[in-house]
Amino acid sequence: MPDKSPAGSPDQISAAIEAMERIISRDPAGRNIAALVQPGHLAAAARTLSESERVLITAGFYVPAAQAGETDGPPGAKAIGAALAALGKEVAYVTDGLNAPYFREIGATPLHVYADSAAQDLLERLRPTHLVAVERLGRAADGCYYNMRGQDVSEYTEPVDELFLKAPALGITTVGVGDGGNEIGMGRCVEKIHQHVKLGAKIACVVPTDHLIVCGVSNWGAYGLAGAIGLLAGRDLLPSAEQARGEVEAIVALGGVDGVTTRSEPTVDGLPLEQSLALLAELRALI
Ligand code: MG
Ligand code: MG
Repeated sequence: MPDKSPAGSPDQISAAIEAMERIISRDPAGRNIAALVQPGHLAAAARTLSESERVLITAGFYVPAAQAGETDGPPGAKAIGAALAALGKEVAYVTDGLNAPYFREIGATPLHVYADSAAQDLLERLRPTHLVAVERLGRAADGCYYNMRGQDVSEYTEPVDELFLKAPALGITTVGVGDGGNEIGMGRCVEKIHQHVKLGAKIACVVPTDHLIVCGVSNWGAYGLAGAIGLLAGRDLLPSAEQARGEVEAIVALGGVDGVTTRSEPTVDGLPLEQSLALLAELRALI
């Protein structure tokens, strides 16, 4: 058999990606995301990224109350980047100075640190074919950036979403991964966020992406995307449990916090790390 695909026919692969989409769409944190989920977008995002050449990935959510970055986001960004790099894609990461140390700590490099008005320069230098955001705040209708509690955290948030606003005119395909309604990409379903998410009318991000992966925890959505990219390539491109655990623990060791509890402990969105690892195992079982 020359075919190295472990999942078999195109139909089987599509069914496996749909199963992955259902797994990552679980809502253990009770954020009422069911109505926001965009069926089919996981597969579409995985397919377009499989055909990408140069991918720029952003994440990083600063928690002012803890003066630290959170555990949800960078591990997911790294999972997607590692999957794409394994397929020979040119991958780079971008975040702001406050979150950069966590990226370096987990080996998410090469890393570009976004500073004021950097969008045009970055796009011209790197010429990405695709942009991906994982748990990265995007501006709300009033131009400010809000956390889930409705606090204005604009002061701590470089406007990385500017990249995504410039992308359509440059023919760049965009993918967003989010779990709360305030992340880059959620501009695709603003009305639903208003209706279903607590403080939705205030915090909803108005920046859309071509493909939007709504999930219970953003790292989970990113793992699902890495898993789906692997399915299409006939390979297991998911991070190992040791890697996934190690990355969350490394972020915490550097002072990073759980974005929900704001405590510096190896949990993600208030959920024990074991829950993320169990989900990763479920995704892997589909490959
Ligand atoms: Mg979130
Ligand atoms: Mg989250």
